[in-house]
Amino acid sequence: MAAEPLPGAQAPAAEGEPLHAVPPLPPAAPDGDDLAAILEDLRERGLHRRMRVVTGPQGSRVVLDGRPVLLLCSNNYLGLADHPRVREAAADAAMRWGAGAGASRLVSGTMTVHRRLEEALAAFKRTEAAVLFGSGYLANLGVVGALARAGQVVFSDELNHASIIDGCRLARADVFVYDHRDVEHLAWGLRKHDGRGGVIVTDSVFSMDGDVAPLEEIVALARRHGLRTVVDEAHGTGCLGPGGRGAVAEAGLDGEVDVVIGTLGKALGAYGAFAACSARMREYLVNSARSLIFSTALPPPAAAGALAALELLVERPAMAATLQANAAWLRDELAREGFEVAGSSTQIVPLVVGDAALAMRMCEEAIQHGVFAQAIRPPTVAPGTSRLRLAVMATHTRDELRQAARTLGRAALRAGFRPGAGLPVAAAQPPGHPDERVPEPL
Ligand code: PMP
Repeated sequence: MAAEPLPGAQAPAAEGEPLHAVPPLPPAAPDGDDLAAILEDLRERGLHRRMRVVTGPQGSRVVLDGRPVLLLCSNNYLGLADHPRVREAAADAAMRWGAGAGASRLVSGTMTVHRRLEEALAAFKRTEAAVLFGSGYLANLGVVGALARAGQVVFSDELNHASIIDGCRLARADVFVYDHRDVEHLAWGLRKHDGRGGVIVTDSVFSMDGDVAPLEEIVALARRHGLRTVVDEAHGTGCLGPGGRGAVAEAGLDGEVDVVIGTLGKALGAYGAFAACSARMREYLVNSARSLIFSTALPPPAAAGALAALELLVERPAMAATLQANAAWLRDELAREGFEVAGSSTQIVPLVVGDAALAMRMCEEAIQHGVFAQAIRPPTVAPGTSRLRLAVMATHTRDELRQAARTLGRAALRAGFRPGAGLPVAAAQPPGHPDERVPEPL
């Protein structure tokens, strides 16, 4: 990425700027005291993170740190991660082909299961071809890095996922960050930098807000300016559109987007990712996407599990509609509790409370009462917009979702936030730490 931000553009972190909430490391101190000081600072700012442990498989109800809870923050949207057919396929693959692929795709890591999955994904996405990546993070890193070069421009929505931001860094291209879903701002940027080449990249469903990109307009603008488009369907694949084929299909844009990224670790219940594209684009990515070339191929059990999940989705195309009906139901129930949920139109429903510590309190309160909805804080979201990010599953019952909305309403009040009041009841701290810059878009 160029050190110089483009005129009029809010540039993602330039070289040397922090990538996260953690302040720069002081010189190493004995016994890791420098690290202890940083961790303490994060705790004081309500930004410290820890990993909660789930016992047993990923379902709509889990045991979290020993406590049974309704799981309301998993990307296992269709409940396929623990589906018997998906488990069996993964287990069989381990017995037939082993636990690992042993090498990168371009050395000896390409196995029959990878080819079969790629063919099935291409058929599902109605593209000529597909190519697997180790994860969605790696796919975005590799694809953005392959499609924009130094001197060119990546046009990127301000709320795109962190892996796209990191892909921009790897590309060393200039980055024009357009205001969230703002096609006029994008059009302005495109005019300003016309002729420089590059790519427009956007999430389809935004991971922390649950809204959908204006894909038709973006594709039309790209065509007008002779640019390629990349759409990250991490949260669209399996969730939106006809048969769960994604937001691109829903917008009637099959075959119109140069590269559609999808993940296998969310609705498809396994792990890994793919880029669906033309055969020529596939060949180009195989020859240029560094995160594909320099990383071990997907383990056979993950590939086989994803293939079984995809087969289930094709057999039962109504799963995505069930998920969206559940999401609409939860949004209604939350609105009944006074929460502002109008921004979301998908299975991702944010409850924005503002302050990071308040979001944590509300999250803990809800867990105490049997609902797990993770608090999301800076730098994952901008300071002052901390939230509980709810993720609906097709396997939640209506009753569970109604109860969850009530529990969340009570948890909000106990934590000091009145739903719908717009501002926390408790005195809100000024957003962010004084020396914390607005984080890069996700
Ligand atoms: N893109 C988006 C929009 C995401 O939300 C995520 C994961 N949260 C990724 C990419 C990365 O996918 P993966 O977890 O497979 O690395």
